[in-house]
Amino acid sequence: MEPIQMVDLKRQYDLIKDEINQGMQQVLSSSSFINGPVVKQFQNDLESYLGVKHVIPCANGTDSLQIALMSLKLKPGDEVITSDFAFVSVVEVISLLNLKPVLVDVNSDTFNIDPLAIEKAITPRTKAIIPVHLFGQTADMEQILVLAKKYNLFVIEDNAQAIGADYTFSDGTITKTGTLGHVSATSFFPSKNLGAYGDGGAIFTNDDNLAKLIRGIVNHGMYNRYCHDIIGVNSRLDSLQAVVLKTKLKYLDMYNGKRKKSALSYTKILKNHPNIITPSMGLNHNSHIFHQYTIRIINSDRDALVNHLNSNKIPCGVYYPIPLHIQKAYKNPEVDSSLFPVTNQIVKEVISLPMHSELSSDQIEYICNSIFSFFD
Ligand SMILES: *Cc1c(COP(=O)(O)O)cnc(C)c1O
Repeated sequence: MEPIQMVDLKRQYDLIKDEINQGMQQVLSSSSFINGPVVKQFQNDLESYLGVKHVIPCANGTDSLQIALMSLKLKPGDEVITSDFAFVSVVEVISLLNLKPVLVDVNSDTFNIDPLAIEKAITPRTKAIIPVHLFGQTADMEQILVLAKKYNLFVIEDNAQAIGADYTFSDGTITKTGTLGHVSATSFFPSKNLGAYGDGGAIFTNDDNLAKLIRGIVNHGMYNRYCHDIIGVNSRLDSLQAVVLKTKLKYLDMYNGKRKKSALSYTKILKNHPNIITPSMGLNHNSHIFHQYTIRIINSDRDALVNHLNSNKIPCGVYYPIPLHIQKAYKNPEVDSSLFPVTNQIVKEVISLPMHSELSSDQIEYICNSIFSFFD
């Protein structure tokens, strides 16, 4: 059996080496490292794949969130609602822009933001909701969009972990995540389902005016050379990364399919164990592309299991060990921790197992047996 990796980029590369190397060689020969034609080609390919009018590439996922928020022209102190159980980027950029992050709890079955908690948190200063499609599973977008309409709020999807996932509305309409809100943000960090060989990100929108604004923001607020009409940033996807992304986009559905297959294999083996809760799938018309395969360990010691797996040469991750509302940088003394019963509980229980497109059934069996041996 091959050594187990959390994410096996080396073996994935070996299968697409010729295409990647050839594309990279072309960029090297042309020397158009920034804004080369391949960046535009990737942009067009991704627009068609997602069925979205505008993809605006940028430097990384955190930038994409910041730029998406900047485009909404909110005022200092305006409130933005997001999930307490997520990566830090969202709350970070809200705070950097002098907006007020309002954290809310998640659903224990999907780990995604709880629409009921969103509605309770809405005030006259609330201007936007940022759902994070966590671990590859879509948030409850239908309910979130209803709330957004009712209270006149913007919706920014953090699609960094869910590129390629579908959302099915109750009327049967199927749409890709990242195309449902007013504007969306994504990351092409190497370990994401569509990952570059360095940093990258993109913003998506169907709104022509927002797209125009965002194209200015990513380029120093500049539409005509050296005329700066708005305050912007410098955030670009480079041509070498675009080669990797353009190549891997062709295989994204296959990669996501393999992840799903691995997830089903894990679940089949693990689902009846009394100390394990396997991830939910297919609730509320959402879909799951398994950026992470995250289980909950109940009535036991999650951290001891992490050590046990590591000692059996099995890497694993704890995403995320600390709720955002108690992080030092974001702690708000006015906010009561009892508002987050689910997050406070699951941070002690979650463990993400190796998940990538090259995982073999032998490896999955070995990992599951190692988990069982911990409980024996
Ligand atoms: C990876 C990730 C980000 C940040 O992306 P970077 O490219 O690392 O800046 C933001 N949100 C979520 C949910 C992520 O998984």
